[in-house]
Amino acid sequence: MKSLYGKFLAMTAIIMVMSTVIAFLIVNTYYHQNMKEENSAKNISIVQQIATYIESEQPPNLEFFLRTEAAVGYKLVLVSPTEEIEFFGAPFREHNLAQEAIDQVLDGQVYNGMQNFPTETFMTGFFADESSNTVGSPVLYQGDRYALFLRPDIKLLFTEVHLLLGGMVIVIAIISFLAMLFFAKKLIDPITELTKATKQIGDEKFVESLDIARQDEIGQLAQSFSQMVERLKQNDQMRKQFISDVSHDFQSPLLNIRGYASLLNKREVDEETRQQYASIIESETERLSTLTKQLLLLTSLDQLKTPLQKKTYALDEQIRDVVRNYQWQIVNKELSLELEVEPITYQGDPAFLEKVWDNLISNAVKYTEQGSIRISLKELSEEIVFCIEDSGIGIEEEHMPQLFERFYRADSSRTKEIEGTGLGLAIVQQVVELHSGTIDMKSELDKGTKITVYLPKKNEK
Ligand code: ADP
Repeated sequence: MKSLYGKFLAMTAIIMVMSTVIAFLIVNTYYHQNMKEENSAKNISIVQQIATYIESEQPPNLEFFLRTEAAVGYKLVLVSPTEEIEFFGAPFREHNLAQEAIDQVLDGQVYNGMQNFPTETFMTGFFADESSNTVGSPVLYQGDRYALFLRPDIKLLFTEVHLLLGGMVIVIAIISFLAMLFFAKKLIDPITELTKATKQIGDEKFVESLDIARQDEIGQLAQSFSQMVERLKQNDQMRKQFISDVSHDFQSPLLNIRGYASLLNKREVDEETRQQYASIIESETERLSTLTKQLLLLTSLDQLKTPLQKKTYALDEQIRDVVRNYQWQIVNKELSLELEVEPITYQGDPAFLEKVWDNLISNAVKYTEQGSIRISLKELSEEIVFCIEDSGIGIEEEHMPQLFERFYRADSSRTKEIEGTGLGLAIVQQVVELHSGTIDMKSELDKGTKITVYLPKKNEK
């Protein structure tokens, strides 16, 4: 049986049958251990009372008297002095009363066949309908010694109360079984639904919502499942968006390169135009190269399995080196540069952190046409603070929340004139997060931008 429901049903049925068998064995053992002696003593006293009555009253018709006694719920065996055997009441299933037992009682002793009835695991002595499973007492009747054997007639003693109780047990068993079926179905239905939904996700079909409103563990599972589906859906969307962005960003420089290359092939192109086309091709190639490098960097940050390659090194020197690379552009644009970096050693991944400074400084230079750029690096008790402030084009409030998303560029005409991929800040954020740091960004359109990076000195990643 493969389904959970089937297993549940089979287990319930097995448990019910097993518990019945075990209960029977326990009760049977209890009868043999504790009740057999009491029961046989009780029956001996009954047979002795009957014997005493017969002896004292000497009823004129002994057979009639014993038949009446049997009618009350007993099976009786009367053995005459000449060893004639007479039965009263319903016949025994098996007549196996031993000759020694008869002789013993005729000799004047009491016979206790109930007490000495063999102890068997699967057969309870209480129900064994055999003439050896009796108690016997001698009876003096009309001057002769008879032997009288007795055992209760279970069938006669089995009254309506017992039938009702038995019926009740069967009804309870049936109701419990049906209730188990019902609750098992209730329990398993949501699991079946979850399984179906899981299969759909395997086929990239994201279910809208699960119809499982429960508070228990299955409810929690369904809730986590829905959250997981939501995240997968977002990831899937992001993945598709990412692919479309990447394709688009590759497509336009490639089209330019192809266009200008075919123009170059024409004979009538003069030297000046040829140089112009060649430099466009060069700059488009440069753009593709930057884009590829940044994408590769982002992918390696995404798939970072080994911890960061940390080193303790002079952060101020690294920043000075990066600034130096932009010196000529700063001079070219006639910007003033304020550099206030304290000598600081920091434990971090130098290769990744270099990209942070590079992207932030290149943005400040790119998006500032006139004025100044101020860069500072300070050490506080718990953290290192890097701050870069420019007097550039600034960013409109509405773009601020998305600037750190991949491929996002503030949608202003001035930004569009400036080369960029929209990946720089995404890289900055990811590297800073890997160093357990945070970024703060303040900007005002046409006034400038201030970005502060906080790097905690102690970070476990
Ligand atoms: P890009 O390659 O376009 O510069 P980034 O991820 O580095 O990509 O930056 C995302 C966007 O944020 C930029 O397109 C620009 O609109 C805005 N931005 C970033 N830095 C500055 C800055 N210093 N001044 C003005 N705008 C900025």
